[in-house]
Amino acid sequence: MTKTTPPSIIALDGPAASGKSTLGRTLADSLGYLFFDTGIMYRAVTWIALQHDMNLNDEAVITELAQKAQIDIRPPSKSDGRACDVVIGEKDVTWDMRGEDVDANVSVVSAYAGVRQALSEQQRRIGLRGKVVMVGRDIGTVVLPEADLKIYLDASAEERAKRRFDEIIARGEKADYDEILRKVVARDHIDSTRAVAPLRPADDAVIIDSDKMTAEQVVAQVMELCK
Ligand code: C5P
Repeated sequence: MTKTTPPSIIALDGPAASGKSTLGRTLADSLGYLFFDTGIMYRAVTWIALQHDMNLNDEAVITELAQKAQIDIRPPSKSDGRACDVVIGEKDVTWDMRGEDVDANVSVVSAYAGVRQALSEQQRRIGLRGKVVMVGRDIGTVVLPEADLKIYLDASAEERAKRRFDEIIARGEKADYDEILRKVVARDHIDSTRAVAPLRPADDAVIIDSDKMTAEQVVAQVMELCK
């Protein structure tokens, strides 16, 4: 009987709130791989810029920030749903980076060529070590085009907004579905129409439309592809 080894570099791309992080974490856990959510890096740069009242429209300033920013990713110190701690200057910003102000501005920051170059170089260096599930928008197309398995996880904007809405309600917070939908659509539009590394499936990616699938079904399909 031949023993198969799972793909060493797994690239997982797709639009906002398509379930990439949940799938990526489950996959990485079951394979014993590193889970690397690259969106964290774009979010961290955006968060720092907002904290320091920097002009987000000034590409040169934001690029310099991305080149110098010391973003530390550490093993999770709390079991509150986080995959890792994100630390900037000894401040734990893991949840701050998920705030609405970052959501609303991150796509502007991530469209800058210099920002992308600075961050994707670091992502590539880590990804090439292998045994990694790397999640983002351009992993299969730009960061790690040599990935052994490329997944593009898609779902309609309505379904993605609904999932986000349900998550917020389940946390006991208030949410407005129409507002969430509008923001998801706006972010996707900027991410997929930018000049550098736009969101799109790699030619050799397996596209999974998760609209009518449960999270468990998606994991099962991808685990099958890993065999
Ligand atoms: O995945 P997440 O929603 O945390 O990503 C936040 C934003 O970071 C995306 O909307 C996109 O603008 C940017 N991003 C990117 N390329 C990546 C990962 C994230 O442009 N590889």
